[in-house]
Order: sequence, then structure tokens, then C-alpha cells
Amino acid sequence: MTTTVVVGGSFAGMTAAIQLKRKGKNEHRVILIDQSPLFLFIPSLIWVPFGRREMTDISFKKEAVLKKRGVEFVHAEALETDTKAQVVKTTQGNFKYDHLVVATGPKVNFDMVPGLARHSHYIGTPNGAMKLRKALEEFKQNPGPIVIGATQEAGCMGASYEFLFNLEKWLRDQKIRKKVDLYWVTPEDYLGHFGIDGMPLGESMLKAFMKLFNIHYRTGVGIKEVTTDSVILSTGEALPYKLTQLMPQFVGVDFVQNSPSLLANKNGLMPVDDTYRHPAIGNVWAAGVAVQVDAPFECKQVPYTVPKTGYPSDVTGKVVAKNILRLTKGNNKLIHKPWGHITGLCVMDAGKKEVIILSNRLFRPRVIALMIPNLLYDFVKVFIEKYFLWKSKRGYAWLP
Ligand SMILES: Cc1cc2nc3c(=O)[nH]c(=O)nc-3n(C[C@H](O)[C@H](O)[C@H](O)COP(=O)(O)OP(=O)(O)OC[C@H]3O[C@@H](n4cnc5c(N)ncnc54)[C@H](O)[C@@H]3O)c2cc1C
Repeated sequence: MTTTVVVGGSFAGMTAAIQLKRKGKNEHRVILIDQSPLFLFIPSLIWVPFGRREMTDISFKKEAVLKKRGVEFVHAEALETDTKAQVVKTTQGNFKYDHLVVATGPKVNFDMVPGLARHSHYIGTPNGAMKLRKALEEFKQNPGPIVIGATQEAGCMGASYEFLFNLEKWLRDQKIRKKVDLYWVTPEDYLGHFGIDGMPLGESMLKAFMKLFNIHYRTGVGIKEVTTDSVILSTGEALPYKLTQLMPQFVGVDFVQNSPSLLANKNGLMPVDDTYRHPAIGNVWAAGVAVQVDAPFECKQVPYTVPKTGYPSDVTGKVVAKNILRLTKGNNKLIHKPWGHITGLCVMDAGKKEVIILSNRLFRPRVIALMIPNLLYDFVKVFIEKYFLWKSKRGYAWLP
């Protein structure tokens, strides 16, 4: 019997755990440790501030799903691991493993910019989304300028673009759009770079959106400081705000950073080869946002990095499960799937409109690379949400 401990049970970890147990059957014991009892469909958080989704619409308890699939769930925070002793220490005791899968997602680095944690909002957590809902209610009574964007070193700019366009739509719905100067600030060298060196027509499409919706923008800028009333850019320009939302850098979680034997990089992200196995520790694996992915482009002005979205997180979870199964069966021919070669499949919601982003590979060179605007309604985004929640609630981790 091989025991695998998976730390983190979201897009990457839940997929890896269920697939491993499903294929490994009685020869594999799979333990999934997560500090949250809920599975949350994070991409729909962008709708929570506007009341389009409640938290209960986009989350469910994961224990029952995992149990049905034969995976043991431990509701605990993983504190550290000792890879020599092959043990994970948690708030609910220690767990020995033969294989370890790190699928812990990101920790948000709010400390990188003075004033960021204190004055700026963040859309990426349930708490952050609910705080924004409250802030918007207050904002309505006393509107003013808004600054939305991402800091230097950010990778998840797409989510901030989505929030921007949803917010612009909300301002119009509230009939206060004319009272608001709306700014977009981004480290990207050009609009629509997205940390993937753009897509054909992406920049011109985003420029057209900015013009159409009267959004001022600054590209290639970092954030020096967020004060009580201004966002100070790396260029020295101060943009006054009544409300601001900035996407910060993602680094590795404390569990990884507190485990020196994992040999994580300086940002606490997991080094892996393109089988998602640790290059120096043969029974340690990582999937999803926890993985270090090198940017395949040069940043011309300020640094930023690649987005690690849901689809590749799910795919890397599957690759890890398959490779552990192969190794335990004595098959050393592992599946290789470099991050940049994974199919690009993403939808950028733009407030009851959307842009569908499709490519045969995430990184250049690509043979197929399409950005398809849909100005009628965000059908595809809604469909993906419903489909993903449907498959995850049933534990159908083998589906795409
Ligand atoms: C606002 C926003 C919008 C987004 N929109 C999109 C989108 O439209 N499309 C898209 O494809 N992607 C989107 N993404 C990205 C997507 O959410 C991520 O790619 C995905 O969540 C990554 O999955 P993951 O399993 O690697 O990590 P996560 O989903 O972050 O999960 C990590 C899990 O690990 C657990 N964990 C962490 N540390 C510990 C510990 N020490 N002990 C125990 N458990 C721990 C956490 O509780 C969590 O359940 C968006 C992200 C954000 C923030």
C-alpha cells in the first residue's frame, strides 16, 4: 500500500487526490489535508461584490465528495514537512507519506508595497470580495475616482481586468458612471499581455474597450505606495482614489516557506521538472499555483509574471496523479507536460460581456491563438462556472 498525502484541496489538489485514488484503488491510500472545509470556485469571486453571486452559490463542502471517492479528508492546516522523515506536521497531528503532493496555491504578498494591505482592496478571497461589496455600497453615497490594477511582480492580472469591467458596468447600472474617473494601472508592457505575451488582436481589443468605456490607463508601471487617498505609481504620478483594488504578487504559502527541506525558491514556490516532480526529491510533487513557472518573456519596464489559471492547475493535478501511479507500478516513463505547452483555455468576463481566449499552447510559439469577443452576454463564463461546480461536486475529476 502506497500512502500519498496531498496538501491543498482545490483545482490542483482535489483533482490529483481523486484521480490517484480512482486509478490506484486498494493499492493507494490518499489523504487530502486542507485548512478549508469548502471548495470554492475562485473565478466567480469577481461577481460577489456586485451581488451577482453569493458565497453559497460558488462553494460546497468537500469532505463528502472526497469520502465518496475513497479519499480521506483531514481538515487541518499543514504547518511544515520534513522530507527526510516523510512526514507532514499539521494542526491535527502528523501524517507519514510515501509521496507528497504540494497543491497549496498562493499566499498573497501584501507587504511588497507600503500601504497596500491597509488601503487597497483584494478581490481574491471570500473576505476580500465581501469587503468590496460593503465598500461599493458606501462608495455609491459618495462617488469619486477609482484605481484598479495590479502591482509589480503580479501574475494574475486577468482577474483584475475582469473586476475592472464588471465595476464599470456596475457604475453605469447605479447611474453614477459620470461621477467617476476610472483608472487601470498595470505592470504589463502593453494592454492584454496577461503574462503570456499577449494574443493576436488582444492589445487592440483592450485599447478599444478602454476607449469605449472611458477608462484611463497606465501600462508598464509599478506601485510605489498606497496612501489614504492616492495610489503612487513607480513613475511618481499620484492617482487620487476613493476606492482601489490591486492584484499583488503571489508567493508560496507558509507551509512551503517553513519547510526548508522542500528547497523552494526565494518566493516559496515549488521547483518541479515538467513531470511536476521535485528535481531533487523523487517522492515530492507539486501542482497548480504552488509550482514555480519561469516567465518566457522579458519585462521591459517593471517585473511581472505568468498567470497560473484554473485549467493548467487541473491539468497538472492530473499529470501528478498519473506519474505517481506509473512510478509505483515500476514504470519510470513519466508523462512530461511543460506548463507552457498546456492548452490555453480562459474566459475574461467583462461585465455581462466576455472575451474567450483559446490557444493550442499557453506560451508562444502557438499555432492556434484566438481572442473571441462576445458582447451579447457572458454565456461561456457562466457555463464554465456551472460545469466546473457540477463536475467537482460529484468528484468527476477525470473530466476536463
Ligand atoms: C479573483 C480571481 C479570479 C480568477 N479567475 C480565474 C478565471 O476566470 N479562470 C481561471 O482559469 N482561473 C482564474 N483564477 C485562478 C484560479 O483561481 C487558480 O488557478 C486556481 O484556484 C489554482 O488552484 P490551486 O489548486 O493551485 O490553488 P488554490 O485554488 O489557491 O487552492 C489552494 C488550496 O490549498 C489550501 N491550503 C493552502 N495552504 C494550506 C496549508 N498550509 N494547509 C492546508 N491547506 C492549505 C487552501 O485552503 C486551498 O484550498 C482566478 C483567481 C483569482 C484570485
